[in-house]
Amino acid sequence: MKCTVCKQPAVVRLPSHHARFCAEHFDVFFMRRVEKAIKRYKLLKKGERVLVAVSGGKDSLVVTDVLHRLGYDVCGLHIDLGISANQFSAESLEVCREFFSKRNIPLEVYNLKEKFGKTIEDVGERIGRFCSTCGMTKRYVMNAVAHQKKVDALATGHNLDDLSAALFANLLRWEMRYLSKGTPHLPAEGNFCRKIKPLVLLFENEIHFYAKLHNIRVVTASCPHSKKAKFKRYKELLNSIEQKSPGTKRFFYEKYSQIAHIFKAENEAKISLRPCSICNMPTSTEICAFCKTWKI
Ligand SMILES: [Zn+2]
Ligand SMILES: [Zn+2]
Repeated sequence: MKCTVCKQPAVVRLPSHHARFCAEHFDVFFMRRVEKAIKRYKLLKKGERVLVAVSGGKDSLVVTDVLHRLGYDVCGLHIDLGISANQFSAESLEVCREFFSKRNIPLEVYNLKEKFGKTIEDVGERIGRFCSTCGMTKRYVMNAVAHQKKVDALATGHNLDDLSAALFANLLRWEMRYLSKGTPHLPAEGNFCRKIKPLVLLFENEIHFYAKLHNIRVVTASCPHSKKAKFKRYKELLNSIEQKSPGTKRFFYEKYSQIAHIFKAENEAKISLRPCSICNMPTSTEICAFCKTWKI
């Protein structure tokens, strides 16, 4: 197997691109995919400040690494959820600290227990809904910290597999609200800063390979509360379609990203936001879900 570019021995084969690469040319390919996404979806301009939400998983660390290498003014945010089982939160924090200090990139750690005297486990147990409370909490903290730091954009590590599986799930249930928000670029609105997904043109296996190539240590423990079975099923379903008709997954998501505005019009008519009476962040109720959960 030879590299498509230089004819030296290849180390990776990418059937969806009809290409094989040596380590050097895989790196060139990967960086170009991110640059292409930034340009196509107008994600960032040179010199802009971007906050990356990092969990310690491969996607968020890889997106941080690439944006840093491309010369953007990057800083990180890690939310310490306080999940003790599997040493999940302790290992996640350790991996993030190691990554950021090696590269000399600033990292803010937001520790829920320190701020509110309780962990996501305390709260999740009390409410009885774990993943949705965790998702809501993370979204809120990301928005609030981005607003407080006055960054130009908030980046997450979502990849093409995540985004196409989410699109598939939302289409099956015609979730108009979520369908309007699955795009790689959500413009700033009120107190919410621009949200971007620079890995939108890359698949999971490509990101995995990048992490390996650059010796990026990622968290190995998995969240003991995660119930992603349904989401995993959608990913497998899309993968089996992709295997029979290569390129389908990319087409499915890219076409959506061009026409997503049709869902936006539907969404805007139904939801009007107002400032939360405790924290001032936009919400559809008098007190936002975050304040209800953590401050009352
Ligand atoms: Zn090569
Ligand atoms: Zn609030």
